Amino acid sequence: MQRITILGATGSIGVSTLDVLARHPDKYQVLALSAHARVEELAEQCAQFRPARAVVGSADAATRLSALLRARGLDHIQVEHGEAALCSIASSAEVDTVMAAIVGAAGLAPTLAAARAGKKILLANKEALVMSGQLFMDAVHQHGATLLPIDSEHNAIFQSLPQAYARQPGAAGVAKILLTASGGPFLNRAVETLEHVTPDEACKHPNWSMGRKISVDSATMMNKGLEVIEAHWLFGAPASLIEVVIHPQSVIHSMVSYVDGSVIAELGNPDMRTPIANALAFPERIESGVAQLDLTSIGTLQFYKPDFARFPCLALAFESLEAGGTAPALLNAANEVAVQAFLERRIGFRDIDRVIARVMHENAHHAASSIEAVMDCDARARAAAQAIVAGLAR
Ligand code: NDP
Ligand code: MG
Repeated sequence: MQRITILGATGSIGVSTLDVLARHPDKYQVLALSAHARVEELAEQCAQFRPARAVVGSADAATRLSALLRARGLDHIQVEHGEAALCSIASSAEVDTVMAAIVGAAGLAPTLAAARAGKKILLANKEALVMSGQLFMDAVHQHGATLLPIDSEHNAIFQSLPQAYARQPGAAGVAKILLTASGGPFLNRAVETLEHVTPDEACKHPNWSMGRKISVDSATMMNKGLEVIEAHWLFGAPASLIEVVIHPQSVIHSMVSYVDGSVIAELGNPDMRTPIANALAFPERIESGVAQLDLTSIGTLQFYKPDFARFPCLALAFESLEAGGTAPALLNAANEVAVQAFLERRIGFRDIDRVIARVMHENAHHAASSIEAVMDCDARARAAAQAIVAGLAR
């Protein structure tokens, strides 16, 4: 039995994870679940999966969850709240595996706690790795944690690399890591109309069903930028080895091109239960509930070069990776603030890249010498981004 904590259980990845786990009650036991504010959904999950502990974001949410659990006769579930409780369910001696599926910087502390406790980490929360890159990877190695990528592209790359050389692309004969991108909902929309698109239009992804933050990131292609940085840290690959390829069908989830001319890819239907099942069972395989890929019904696979002028966020992400240190943390924090402001209709869609560019160019980045330095940079970038948003607000 693998004993599992799911951080962010009520989100898109959390729900897909529970769907896979429910298919294999003989293999996995849910020990702890977390949500932020959606306590009704968490109470439903608690009723189905009977964890020992449930963590929410505030004392008020904890009170409401306790009442819901009591009404269901589930008083034995320990209800807690706050960051220390998240870190505790991520590092508890009773837990083997942690699904890190909180969205944004809020996931860093608990995911790092899982790394320091030497857990098997299924990493969906790319923002944590983007912010803390080297520090996070050092913690993984120092404490003997196992890091398995959930992001579909990185899971595909992981499956396409020889395991013996998982973090030495040079030694493995890798010529390029080809990171595929759907291009999101605005791939072919007239650029001048992007100024006025709505949050609902931005969240209408052509292939994937996801949380709202990552959906906006896909529309700006910041998601792909964050994924370039994520691939850099996960696979020890310099930016020059990583190429973004637009592939609107999202059937090929990414590829590795080798010096002998071979290209190895992972293909499948666009459904996150595949990478989740892959990481849960690795190195074995389990059923995920995803239908087998029917290539003849798809017929055509297309590929294009990305347009950096249409998607300035992608260029900003490459720039932050080249700059190094806390520059990716600046980028990430500014992006989180700008995306939230866009979702709340306080700024326009194209203001997102303007806010990020200004935060990056008006604030110094430093060596990422400690988690405290990273969090300090994150806080500074958030304050700077909020001030710019206030100036732009419509
Ligand atoms: P969702 O917005 O659907 O879910 C986020 C989860 O995190 C929810 O459980 C939410 O709780 C919780 N949460 C939100 N804010 C906080 C906070 N401040 N503190 C603690 N918990 C919080 O996101 P997704 O599932 O789409 O994405 C999760 C992560 O996975 C992101 O980092 C994303 O980039 C990554 N990812 C997602 C993919 C997808 O297909 N969705 C694909 C690849 C990567 P509540 O429900 O109570 O608000
Ligand atoms: Mg992805």
